[in-house]
Amino acid sequence: MTTISTTEHTAVPALAGAEPDRNCPLCPRLAAFREAARLREPGWFNSPVPSFGTANARLLITGLAPGLQGANRTGRPFTGDYAGDLLYATLIEYGFAEGVYQARPDDGLRLVDCRISNAVRCVPPQNKPLPPEINTCRQFLSATIATMPRLHAIVALGRIAHESVVKALGLRAVAAPFTHGAVHEAGPFRLYDSYHCSRYNTNTGVLTTEMFRRVFARVRADLEMP
Ligand code: SF4
Repeated sequence: MTTISTTEHTAVPALAGAEPDRNCPLCPRLAAFREAARLREPGWFNSPVPSFGTANARLLITGLAPGLQGANRTGRPFTGDYAGDLLYATLIEYGFAEGVYQARPDDGLRLVDCRISNAVRCVPPQNKPLPPEINTCRQFLSATIATMPRLHAIVALGRIAHESVVKALGLRAVAAPFTHGAVHEAGPFRLYDSYHCSRYNTNTGVLTTEMFRRVFARVRADLEMP
Protein backbone atom coordinates (compact mmCIF):
# COMPACT_ATOMS: atom_id res chain seq x y z
CA MET A 1 0.00 0.00 0.00
CA THR A 2 1.29 3.45 -0.86
CA THR A 3 1.10 5.81 2.08
CA ILE A 4 1.12 9.53 1.48
CA SER A 5 1.30 11.72 4.52
CA THR A 6 -0.95 14.73 4.71
CA THR A 7 2.12 16.97 4.63
CA GLU A 8 3.03 15.75 1.16
CA HIS A 9 0.02 17.21 -0.55
CA THR A 10 -1.95 20.39 -0.56
CA ALA A 11 -5.65 20.01 -1.13
CA VAL A 12 -6.84 21.69 -4.31
CA PRO A 13 -9.70 24.05 -3.49
CA ALA A 14 -13.00 23.40 -5.18
CA LEU A 15 -13.70 26.23 -7.62
CA ALA A 16 -17.22 25.33 -8.68
CA GLY A 17 -20.44 23.72 -7.57
CA ALA A 18 -20.43 19.95 -7.74
CA GLU A 19 -22.77 19.82 -10.73
CA PRO A 20 -22.12 21.71 -13.97
CA ASP A 21 -24.84 23.57 -15.84
CA ARG A 22 -26.53 21.41 -18.48
CA ASN A 23 -25.13 23.79 -21.11
CA CYS A 24 -21.66 24.01 -19.59
CA PRO A 25 -19.51 25.70 -22.26
CA LEU A 26 -16.07 25.11 -20.73
CA CYS A 27 -14.94 22.42 -23.20
CA PRO A 28 -15.88 23.70 -26.68
CA ARG A 29 -15.26 20.36 -28.41
CA LEU A 30 -17.46 18.45 -25.96
CA ALA A 31 -20.14 21.16 -25.96
CA ALA A 32 -20.32 20.92 -29.77
CA PHE A 33 -20.46 17.11 -29.61
CA ARG A 34 -23.26 17.39 -27.03
CA GLU A 35 -25.21 19.83 -29.21
CA ALA A 36 -24.89 17.56 -32.24
CA ALA A 37 -26.17 14.64 -30.17
CA ARG A 38 -29.15 16.70 -29.02
CA LEU A 39 -30.13 17.33 -32.62
CA ARG A 40 -29.57 13.73 -33.64
CA GLU A 41 -31.13 12.07 -30.57
CA PRO A 42 -33.52 14.54 -28.92
CA GLY A 43 -34.84 11.85 -26.58
CA TRP A 44 -31.44 11.23 -25.02
CA PHE A 45 -30.04 12.99 -21.94
CA ASN A 46 -27.15 14.63 -23.87
CA SER A 47 -25.94 16.81 -20.95
CA PRO A 48 -23.27 16.66 -18.25
CA VAL A 49 -24.20 13.56 -16.25
CA PRO A 50 -24.67 14.34 -12.55
CA SER A 51 -23.35 12.19 -9.75
CA PHE A 52 -25.55 9.34 -8.56
CA GLY A 53 -25.95 8.70 -4.83
CA THR A 54 -25.96 10.71 -1.64
CA ALA A 55 -23.26 13.22 -0.72
CA ASN A 56 -23.26 11.59 2.72
CA ALA A 57 -21.71 8.39 1.36
CA ARG A 58 -18.33 7.09 2.53
CA LEU A 59 -17.49 5.62 -0.88
CA LEU A 60 -17.04 7.55 -4.12
CA ILE A 61 -16.53 5.66 -7.37
CA THR A 62 -14.97 7.71 -10.15
CA GLY A 63 -15.27 6.59 -13.75
CA LEU A 64 -13.87 8.17 -16.89
CA ALA A 65 -16.77 9.81 -18.76
CA PRO A 66 -20.32 9.01 -19.89
CA GLY A 67 -20.61 6.46 -22.67
CA LEU A 68 -22.44 7.73 -25.74
CA GLN A 69 -25.26 5.19 -25.53
CA GLY A 70 -24.87 4.59 -21.80
CA ALA A 71 -24.96 7.46 -19.31
CA ASN A 72 -25.15 10.08 -22.06
CA ARG A 73 -28.36 8.45 -23.23
CA THR A 74 -29.92 7.62 -19.87
CA GLY A 75 -28.55 10.40 -17.63
CA ARG A 76 -27.31 8.12 -14.82
CA PRO A 77 -23.66 7.07 -14.48
CA PHE A 78 -22.86 3.60 -15.83
CA THR A 79 -26.48 3.04 -16.81
CA GLY A 80 -27.32 1.48 -20.15
CA ASP A 81 -24.03 -0.04 -21.25
CA TYR A 82 -22.02 -3.11 -20.38
CA ALA A 83 -19.83 -1.41 -17.77
CA GLY A 84 -22.94 -0.87 -15.65
CA ASP A 85 -23.83 -4.57 -15.71
CA LEU A 86 -20.59 -5.49 -13.96
CA LEU A 87 -20.38 -2.42 -11.74
CA TYR A 88 -23.90 -2.58 -10.33
CA ALA A 89 -23.84 -6.36 -9.89
CA THR A 90 -20.65 -5.96 -7.87
CA LEU A 91 -22.03 -3.06 -5.83
CA ILE A 92 -25.15 -5.08 -4.97
CA GLU A 93 -23.00 -8.07 -3.98
CA TYR A 94 -20.96 -5.96 -1.54
CA GLY A 95 -23.89 -4.04 -0.10
CA PHE A 96 -23.18 -0.72 -1.84
CA ALA A 97 -26.44 -0.88 -3.80
CA GLU A 98 -29.93 -2.29 -3.29
CA GLY A 99 -32.56 -3.32 -5.79
CA VAL A 100 -32.36 -4.72 -9.29
CA TYR A 101 -30.28 -3.00 -11.95
CA GLN A 102 -32.34 -2.81 -15.13
CA ALA A 103 -30.21 -0.34 -17.11
CA ARG A 104 -32.80 2.41 -16.69
CA PRO A 105 -32.59 5.44 -14.39
CA ASP A 106 -36.10 4.63 -13.12
CA ASP A 107 -35.29 1.01 -12.23
CA GLY A 108 -35.41 1.84 -8.52
CA LEU A 109 -31.80 0.84 -7.88
CA ARG A 110 -30.52 2.61 -4.78
CA LEU A 111 -26.91 3.21 -3.82
CA VAL A 112 -26.03 2.54 -0.19
CA ASP A 113 -23.21 4.59 1.38
CA CYS A 114 -21.91 5.00 -2.17
CA ARG A 115 -21.80 7.69 -4.83
CA ILE A 116 -20.75 7.43 -8.46
CA SER A 117 -19.31 10.22 -10.55
CA ASN A 118 -17.10 10.69 -13.60
CA ALA A 119 -13.82 12.50 -14.10
CA VAL A 120 -15.34 14.10 -17.20
CA ARG A 121 -19.06 14.86 -17.11
CA CYS A 122 -19.78 15.14 -20.85
CA VAL A 123 -19.58 12.34 -23.37
CA PRO A 124 -16.37 12.59 -25.41
CA PRO A 125 -16.00 11.37 -29.00
CA GLN A 126 -14.67 7.78 -29.06
CA ASN A 127 -14.74 7.74 -25.24
CA LYS A 128 -11.51 9.75 -25.31
CA PRO A 129 -11.47 13.08 -23.49
CA LEU A 130 -8.46 15.29 -24.20
CA PRO A 131 -6.10 16.31 -21.37
CA PRO A 132 -7.35 19.92 -21.28
CA GLU A 133 -10.94 18.64 -20.98
CA ILE A 134 -9.98 16.34 -18.11
CA ASN A 135 -8.20 19.24 -16.43
CA THR A 136 -11.14 21.61 -16.96
CA CYS A 137 -13.77 19.23 -15.65
CA ARG A 138 -11.71 18.40 -12.55
CA GLN A 139 -13.23 21.42 -10.80
CA PHE A 140 -16.50 19.46 -10.59
CA LEU A 141 -14.75 16.35 -9.31
CA SER A 142 -12.97 18.46 -6.68
CA ALA A 143 -16.27 20.05 -5.70
CA THR A 144 -17.92 16.63 -5.50
CA ILE A 145 -15.20 15.41 -3.14
CA ALA A 146 -15.44 18.61 -1.11
CA THR A 147 -19.18 18.16 -0.61
CA MET A 148 -18.87 14.65 0.89
CA PRO A 149 -18.26 15.12 4.61
CA ARG A 150 -17.99 11.40 5.43
CA LEU A 151 -15.97 10.40 2.38
CA HIS A 152 -13.26 7.86 3.13
CA ALA A 153 -12.84 5.51 0.17
CA ILE A 154 -12.43 6.51 -3.47
CA VAL A 155 -12.36 3.84 -6.17
CA ALA A 156 -10.83 5.05 -9.42
CA LEU A 157 -11.87 3.08 -12.49
CA GLY A 158 -8.97 3.27 -14.90
CA ARG A 159 -5.81 5.30 -15.17
CA ILE A 160 -7.38 8.57 -16.31
CA ALA A 161 -9.85 8.61 -13.42
CA HIS A 162 -7.02 7.71 -11.06
CA GLU A 163 -4.84 10.56 -12.30
CA SER A 164 -7.66 13.06 -12.06
CA VAL A 165 -8.50 12.00 -8.51
CA VAL A 166 -4.82 12.22 -7.57
CA LYS A 167 -4.72 15.80 -8.87
CA ALA A 168 -8.06 16.67 -7.28
CA LEU A 169 -6.66 15.55 -3.94
CA GLY A 170 -3.52 17.58 -4.51
CA LEU A 171 -1.25 14.51 -4.41
CA ARG A 172 2.03 14.17 -6.25
CA ALA A 173 1.43 11.78 -9.13
CA VAL A 174 4.77 10.05 -8.67
CA ALA A 175 3.80 9.13 -5.10
CA ALA A 176 0.60 7.39 -6.22
CA PRO A 177 1.13 5.42 -9.45
CA PHE A 178 -1.84 3.64 -10.98
CA THR A 179 -1.85 -0.14 -10.60
CA HIS A 180 -4.88 -2.39 -10.54
CA GLY A 181 -5.50 -3.39 -6.93
CA ALA A 182 -3.27 -0.67 -5.46
CA VAL A 183 -4.42 1.20 -2.39
CA HIS A 184 -3.02 4.66 -1.71
CA GLU A 185 -3.36 6.31 1.68
CA ALA A 186 -3.91 10.04 1.26
CA GLY A 187 -4.64 11.92 4.44
CA PRO A 188 -8.26 11.22 5.36
CA PHE A 189 -8.86 9.21 2.19
CA ARG A 190 -7.92 5.86 0.71
CA LEU A 191 -7.70 5.65 -3.05
CA TYR A 192 -8.31 2.20 -4.55
CA ASP A 193 -7.28 1.55 -8.14
CA SER A 194 -9.11 -0.73 -10.55
CA TYR A 195 -8.99 -1.27 -14.25
CA HIS A 196 -12.11 0.19 -15.81
CA CYS A 197 -15.00 -2.29 -16.01
CA SER A 198 -15.48 -1.69 -19.74
CA ARG A 199 -16.55 -4.41 -22.12
CA TYR A 200 -13.17 -4.09 -23.86
CA ASN A 201 -11.25 -4.76 -20.65
CA THR A 202 -13.38 -7.74 -19.67
CA ASN A 203 -13.46 -9.22 -23.19
CA THR A 204 -9.70 -9.03 -23.45
CA GLY A 205 -9.13 -10.46 -19.98
CA VAL A 206 -7.45 -7.30 -18.69
CA LEU A 207 -10.10 -7.28 -15.97
CA THR A 208 -11.89 -10.38 -14.75
CA THR A 209 -15.01 -10.38 -12.63
CA GLU A 210 -12.98 -11.83 -9.78
CA MET A 211 -10.34 -9.07 -10.03
CA PHE A 212 -13.11 -6.48 -9.88
CA ARG A 213 -14.85 -8.18 -6.97
CA ARG A 214 -11.61 -8.22 -4.97
CA VAL A 215 -11.34 -4.42 -5.17
CA PHE A 216 -14.79 -3.96 -3.64
CA ALA A 217 -14.27 -6.76 -1.13
CA ARG A 218 -11.25 -4.81 0.10
CA VAL A 219 -13.20 -1.54 0.26
CA ARG A 220 -16.00 -3.23 2.20
CA ALA A 221 -13.58 -4.86 4.63
CA ASP A 222 -11.72 -1.58 5.21
CA LEU A 223 -14.92 0.38 5.80
CA GLU A 224 -16.06 -2.20 8.35
CA MET A 225 -12.87 -1.84 10.36
CA PRO A 226 -13.31 0.18 13.56
S1 SF4 B 1 -16.70 18.04 -19.60
FE1 SF4 B 1 -17.11 19.15 -17.70
S2 SF4 B 1 -16.10 21.14 -17.90
FE2 SF4 B 1 -16.22 20.22 -19.95
S3 SF4 B 1 -18.11 21.05 -20.83
FE3 SF4 B 1 -18.67 19.10 -19.85
S4 SF4 B 1 -19.28 19.64 -17.77
FE4 SF4 B 1 -18.21 21.40 -18.62
